[in-house]
Order: sequence, then structure tokens, then C-alpha cells
Amino acid sequence: MYLKSIEIQGFKSFANKMSFEFHNGITAIVGPNGSGKSNVADAVRWVLGEQKVKQLRGSKMEDVIFSGTESRKPLGFAYVAITLDNSDSQLQIDFDEVKISRRIFRSGESEYKINGSTCRLKDISELFYDTGIGKEGYSIIGQGQIEKILSEKPEDRRELFDEAAGIVKFKRRKAVTIKKLEEERQNLVRVRDILNELG
Ligand code: ATP
Repeated sequence: MYLKSIEIQGFKSFANKMSFEFHNGITAIVGPNGSGKSNVADAVRWVLGEQKVKQLRGSKMEDVIFSGTESRKPLGFAYVAITLDNSDSQLQIDFDEVKISRRIFRSGESEYKINGSTCRLKDISELFYDTGIGKEGYSIIGQGQIEKILSEKPEDRRELFDEAAGIVKFKRRKAVTIKKLEEERQNLVRVRDILNELG
């Protein structure tokens, strides 16, 4: 699996619709300070479902929408789509190419899609569990993040290894099952109480 392309429109400094094509290998994005290099990484983080505005270097989610320049009016929405090559079926979805998109309007309304079908953020998160690509994954290493990882508590650092080892989805499923079991246990207690009252 690899990132094939990114389409951006109205996201941060990218007012016009534009796309970046990538090939299997190393790509470097170079440019002067403030030209928008980090905004490209922010776009990828955002389309993968980043909800924390601080991670996107803003103070409110609306800050990701192009806010205008001296010569250009602000835009009303931001759109980012990434296309991943999935010919090795690393993502559990029956497509050789997977396109994830996210759009947000100034009203706060937002929309996620997987291969053109509207979906929930949860569907996107689940698609990327254990791939290292999700917003919590290690595929995007931001400035200062390596230092943070090294200085983290061992339990926190362990999460990164769990993700790399591919066991996060099992841990999540286990947590959901334990919660359900507990609910069923409570139901049983109630049923026993009712039976006792009747008996
Ligand atoms: P450096 O090399 O200094 O890290 P960079 O190339 O990574 O810089 P970015 O931080 O990606 O640059 O881009 C910063 C630019 O993006 C600034 O000029 C800022 O004004 C612009 N920008 C950020 N958000 C918006 C927005 N919502 N609308 C318009 N421009 C924006």
C-alpha cells in the first residue's frame, strides 16, 4: 500500500483545486518557509479524521478553510482527498484503490467518504486500525514528535508498538466485548431480582 495522490481545495493555503501525484518511493516536498509544506501533511492528517485543532496548528476547526489573502476572498469550504494503492489488500476493503475524502463547510457541517460513498469517521478509523496510517498512527511523524515518543511513559510508548504489531483492533474488540458482557451481567442480576419477587 502506498499514497498515490492527494487532492486539495480550499484547505489552508491551498485555495485552488490541486493535486499531488506520488509514486512508490521517496518524495520530498521542498519550498521556502511559510510556503505550505506542513499544510500538505496537515491535509493528510485531517482527511484521516484528525479532530484536534491543535494538531492541525489552528485554534478552531474552521481555521483549516482558506481564509483569504489581499487579492482573494475566503472560501466557504475545505476539501481533501487521498488515494491509496491497495493492490496488496492491506486495507480490508475489496478495492485496489481506496479514496478517502473529507469536506467541511463554515457552518461546521462535514462529510467523509470512502470511494465516493458517504461514511462515518468511525468507518475510516476502523479501516486503518493496525496499519499505522490512522490519525493516531506513526505514519505521520510531526516536528518534535520523536522527542515526545522518547520521553513518553512506557505504557504510552507501548501503544505505538501495539499498533505496529497489529494488535490494536483485537484490543478494541476485547474492550467492546468486555463492556457487553458486563451489561449482560447486569441484565441477569435484574432478571434474577424479578424472578425472586415473583417467586
Ligand atoms: P516552514 O518551512 O516555515 O515550516 P511551511 O512551508 O511548512 O513553512 P506551512 O506552515 O505549511 O509552511 O504554511 C504556512 C502558511 O499557510 C502561512 O503563510 C499561513 O498564512 C498559511 N495558512 C495557514 N492556514 C491558512 C488558511 N486557513 N487560509 C490561508 N492561508 C493559510
